[in-house]
Amino acid sequence: MFRYVCLVLTSLLFAGCSVSEAPKDPVTMTGVAFHSMPWMVKVSALPAGTDAVATQAALQKILDDTNAVLSTYQPDTELMRFNRAPVEQWVTVSPMLLRAVETAVGVSAMTEGTYDITVGPLVNLWGFGPQAVPESTPDAAQIAAARARIGWQHIGIDRSKSALMRKADIQLDLSSVGEGVAVDALTAYLQSRSITDYMVSVAGCTRVSGNRPDGLHWVIAIEEPDGSGRPRQILALTQQAVSSSGSYRNYHEIDGKRYSHTIDPATGAPITHHGVSVSVIAPDGNNTRADALATAFNVLGPDRGLVLAEREKLAVYYIEHTDEGTRVRYTQAMKAWLPE
Ligand code: ADP
Ligand code: MG
Repeated sequence: MFRYVCLVLTSLLFAGCSVSEAPKDPVTMTGVAFHSMPWMVKVSALPAGTDAVATQAALQKILDDTNAVLSTYQPDTELMRFNRAPVEQWVTVSPMLLRAVETAVGVSAMTEGTYDITVGPLVNLWGFGPQAVPESTPDAAQIAAARARIGWQHIGIDRSKSALMRKADIQLDLSSVGEGVAVDALTAYLQSRSITDYMVSVAGCTRVSGNRPDGLHWVIAIEEPDGSGRPRQILALTQQAVSSSGSYRNYHEIDGKRYSHTIDPATGAPITHHGVSVSVIAPDGNNTRADALATAFNVLGPDRGLVLAEREKLAVYYIEHTDEGTRVRYTQAMKAWLPE
C-alpha cells in the first residue's frame, strides 16, 4: 500500500552520552513493513529465554498481519473486502480495522474533512494510487466527478458491535495511518511481553518508552525537510509517540509542475506548499492518531494548521522553506518536548 519510503524522524543513539565506560548496546531488530517501509525496534534487554531472531520474526509477523488488514495494494485484505461489501450493510471487522477507522474519522471531524480516508478517487486521479501518473493535470469536470465519490460522513461506525458500514459507495484508504497503526501494534506486542525499555519506528512514526541500556532516554530527532537525513530538532521524549509527514519527498511532476501526494479534499487538488515537514507528538502514545494528524496538518500547511493546533492544544512542529532558508514554527504545547 505504501509505495514511498519516508524517514522523517531519526534516532540518534547515544548522542550526548556522558558515560565514561562503553554502555551496553541495545538489541536492534529491523525489517521491511508494507513492502517498502523500513522498521526498527530497539530494546534495552529481551526477556529471559527469548532471542533477537525469534523476536524479529514475531515483530515481522505482526507487520505482515497489519498489512493483511489495511493494505489497498492487494485485493484480499480486510479493508479491500470491506470496500467491496454492499452499501448500507454492517460488516463485522477486526479490532485493528475498527480502531484505525474510528481514529481517522475523529481526525476528519476535527479538521472538518481536510483529513479524509475516502479521498482515494482523488489520489488515483492525480496518479498517486495504483494507476499511472496522468500526462496532463485533471480538468475541473474530472475533479468534480472524483470529489462526488468521497466523503468521510458516509462511514458508519458501531463500536459496540465492532462493525463498519459504507453508507454510500465510498472507498476507504488507510495509507496515511498505516505506519502509526503498525507502531501501535508493535508497541502492544512489546508491552505484552513485559518489555518496558524500547524505541519502535516504522518510517515516519516513532514511539519510545523507558530508557536505553545506558540509563538515558532514547533520543529522537526531526530531520531537515530536504531529504538529507540531517537532524534539525532533537526531541525530549520519555514515553510519547511522534509522527512526521512531509510534502518534500513524495511528489511527482505533471506538465513540469510538482505535485505532492497529499490532496486537499476542499480543492480536489494536491497541496501546493512545498518543502514543508510537520511533526505531531501524542503524549498518550497513540501513534495512529499522531499519524493521521501529521497528514492532516501537512494538508493544512503551517498558516491554517497552527491556528487549529493551538485551538486543540496539540504539539505540532512545522519546518518550512522560505526564500532565506528554512523556518520553524510550533505550538505552545510543543514546547514541553523541546530540550532547553
Ligand atoms: P507521508 O507522511 O509518507 O508523506 P502520509 O502519511 O501523509 O504520507 O500519507 C499520504 C497518503 O495519504 C497518500 O498517499 C494518500 O493515499 C493519502 N492521502 C492523501 N491526501 C489525504 C487526505 N487529505 N486525507 C487522508 N489521506 C490522504
Ligand atoms: Mg500520515
